[in-house]
Amino acid sequence: MKTDRKGSFTFPGGVHPSDKKNLTADSKIQYGFTGKESAIMLCQHIGAVCQPLVSKSDEVEEGQKIGENEAFVSAPVHCPIKGKVKGIELRPHAVLGRSEAIIIEGDSEERARRPSEGEDVFGSAFDESQYTSEQICQAIREAGIVGMGGAGFPTAVKIGINAKQPKEVLIVNGCECEPYITCDYRIMLEWTYKILAGVRLAQKVSGCSKVLIAIEDNKPEAIEAMSEAISKLSMDGKIGIAAVKTKYPQGGERQLIKSVLKRNVPTGGIPPMIGVLVLNVATTAAIAEAVVEGTALTHRVVTVTGEGIKEPSNYYAAIGTSVEELIDFSGGLTEEAVEVILGGPMMGISIADLSTPITKTTGAITVLTREQIGEAKFSGRQTACIRCGRCLLACPENLNPTKIAHAVKNNMLDLAKKYYISGCMECGACSYVCPANIELTGYIKTGKILIAKEKKTNAE
Ligand code: SF4
Ligand code: SF4
Repeated sequence: MKTDRKGSFTFPGGVHPSDKKNLTADSKIQYGFTGKESAIMLCQHIGAVCQPLVSKSDEVEEGQKIGENEAFVSAPVHCPIKGKVKGIELRPHAVLGRSEAIIIEGDSEERARRPSEGEDVFGSAFDESQYTSEQICQAIREAGIVGMGGAGFPTAVKIGINAKQPKEVLIVNGCECEPYITCDYRIMLEWTYKILAGVRLAQKVSGCSKVLIAIEDNKPEAIEAMSEAISKLSMDGKIGIAAVKTKYPQGGERQLIKSVLKRNVPTGGIPPMIGVLVLNVATTAAIAEAVVEGTALTHRVVTVTGEGIKEPSNYYAAIGTSVEELIDFSGGLTEEAVEVILGGPMMGISIADLSTPITKTTGAITVLTREQIGEAKFSGRQTACIRCGRCLLACPENLNPTKIAHAVKNNMLDLAKKYYISGCMECGACSYVCPANIELTGYIKTGKILIAKEKKTNAE
């Protein structure tokens, strides 16, 4: 199939930051790395927090389920290494401050693990018809798969057939629009057939009649690899490729749907309301592993990158490995390193404690230098709003960031709600373009936290 590599699909708003993908785009995924211990967070998804199924000093096997919650919206957690439970302790968490984790001390001889990735398993020999929808759904649930693009919503809940909201179109998100990050790009090149096997399983279980894999046009090799594999599997006409324009945040669910299908997800709504299911490419690969190999989500590909890292690369790392160990594995920090971010520079969260473990949704560790952050932003120097309107033009959700931020700053939360603070996806595009260095996204995030606290207090 000949696929147009030039992206013709786009959405209103957005920005064009330097993508910085060159630091790791050619770095093949490195396998066999696991930290000295794994700290498995009991909360790494949207929904009910897991309860531990193991106790201190228990012997555990690789892939063993060690935490779960029977609530409908939840996902179990599993042990990535054979070893012993050292304890259940609080560990630093980028969003929650500190959160409970099961600490596993690994058996050094048993740490390395490689996924099977041959075309014989996921390529021409793969046939989704040998699995029933129930089997697929059950395998996804048992494997603890969640949205690996960052959302962390349990995939089994998202993917199943819902008679009230039938799904028609499956969009597989291969955009990876955040600067610096290349983990999804690498798996599109190296796990192409595994992704396609997951896509076919996801299509079967969701009941979607149409499938599109959306990839930004700054990744022509990924577009080529996917197109070739689709042709080799004789799936032309069944799975399409949509080359989308390179623009941030093209990978946002709502922006991607607008770009590819020219349809709007209602404000405050979710894609299934308009018959659309969006899955990240890494999530589809995890689906294939869970269904075909019966493996739980215990490892993921993480990009360790930025000008503050000596040897940036991509790693297939055990979930629960600390940021510090992954940075050490990448040669350590450069002398100029000043900020460590869990995620990318636009939507990621700065962390001060490097013992923070990676979770199912950690796609990258980005370390920036003073030069990358920018002198003015580094010194925190803000000036008054000059009413240039750039933040309004950049906002992909058609919001007025400056008005929302102003309302939050003056503790007028009702006004912030009227300006639709809840519609903000926290993409950071407004802060990025602001010439006055106003941390608009920071104010908005704070406003959301204050509104949630207010709601909780009113409910008590
Ligand atoms: S207001 Fe929210 S959605 Fe709009 S640009 Fe700012 S962070 Fe992004
Ligand atoms: S971009 Fe900054 S200076 Fe311009 S209107 Fe928005 S808040 Fe004001």
